[in-house]
Amino acid sequence: MAREDLYKTLGVDKKATPEEIKKAYRKLARQYHPDRNPDNASAEERFKQVQGAYDVLGDAEKRKQYDRGGLTGIFGGGGPGGSGGAAGGGFGGGAGFPGGGGITDILSDLFGSTPGGSSGRPGGGGPRRTRPEKGRDVETSVQVSFQQAMDGVQVSLTVPTAQTCGTCHGTGAKPGTSPKVCPRCQGRGVEAQGQGVFSISTPCSQCGGGGTIIEDPCATCRGQGSIRTVKKYRVNIPPGVREGSRVRINGKGEASPNGGPPGDLFVLTHVEESAIFERKGDNVEVEVPISFPEAARGAEVEVPTLNGRKKLRVPPGTHSGTVQRLRGEGPPKLGAAGGATHGDIHYRFVIDVPGDLSKEQSDAVDKLSKVMRGDPRARLFKAATPPEADAKGKGEAEG
Ligand SMILES: [Zn+2]
Ligand SMILES: [Zn+2]
Repeated sequence: MAREDLYKTLGVDKKATPEEIKKAYRKLARQYHPDRNPDNASAEERFKQVQGAYDVLGDAEKRKQYDRGGLTGIFGGGGPGGSGGAAGGGFGGGAGFPGGGGITDILSDLFGSTPGGSSGRPGGGGPRRTRPEKGRDVETSVQVSFQQAMDGVQVSLTVPTAQTCGTCHGTGAKPGTSPKVCPRCQGRGVEAQGQGVFSISTPCSQCGGGGTIIEDPCATCRGQGSIRTVKKYRVNIPPGVREGSRVRINGKGEASPNGGPPGDLFVLTHVEESAIFERKGDNVEVEVPISFPEAARGAEVEVPTLNGRKKLRVPPGTHSGTVQRLRGEGPPKLGAAGGATHGDIHYRFVIDVPGDLSKEQSDAVDKLSKVMRGDPRARLFKAATPPEADAKGKGEAEG
């Protein structure tokens, strides 16, 4: 079976760092995303390839295995099973290499009661799991506006996923044929090198550690046992999400390889920034410019809320930086059980200083400065210097 060069698919070097791989993947995934290329079959195909390559290279363990020659293609021997990290199984199977699973275990795993039975790894010493596995979780991301994050929004998502190949039921072998126990390792998945206490087990060079080989690959899935597809969902993003919130949609992940429950879909939310509101934990903050007369004499000013406007009283003698809260007017709290369901809005007053003054304003400021005598910085020195220096400083300021 031709071995697809996954590094080439992502356009990265074999020595690329995980960060570089992720970057390359993101770039290509954006470029070929079905949402961006509607009705473009070749872009969709490319998208799936990129997705598949990242499935392997984006996972340290799978990448190691692939580099050793273990994973022969998009999914490697494991098919869509793998069941992300459930106890001991899946691709983490590296740990199980030296195991004594033995042929019977493998056969019962591959051809046993579970259709697909795709986990196909020679297990460690432990008993093989026959209970249904949960399907793999899938993560995707979505960008919403600030207002949508506050109000909640329904979005359509295109989610890449894998489903068990219907032609071979996940074995990867052409119908009528079966995967064969690897003749090199007799199904153990490992080869021993050296002797006695110094013998080292390495993954089998013929089967890559899977313990089986496919002589006649299934034409539908090219021996992978599963097929990449994209699914479309309409998903409700609840009100109150933030940048980096993960919304879990139960049961919309990948199908179980053996009749268990499907995995979940996680939607990572990216929230565009608002020009006015700044998220601060459970609350939002707004900067409210007030004029010097408003600050000095007090005023009633109108301020924006998340869905309208309200009046706020500015007390006489308000300093720049003073904060007033409107309790419960802030963002909805995600999953608030009892207690406050919404955060607050913090209005921070700042005194607005005009950049240039008209003649009339300039005259008024002159008048003002004549009557506003004294040094507003005097108290800085009062606190920070010894008494005699203080007396001197004060004298100068008033002199
Ligand atoms: Zn197939
Ligand atoms: Zn082998």
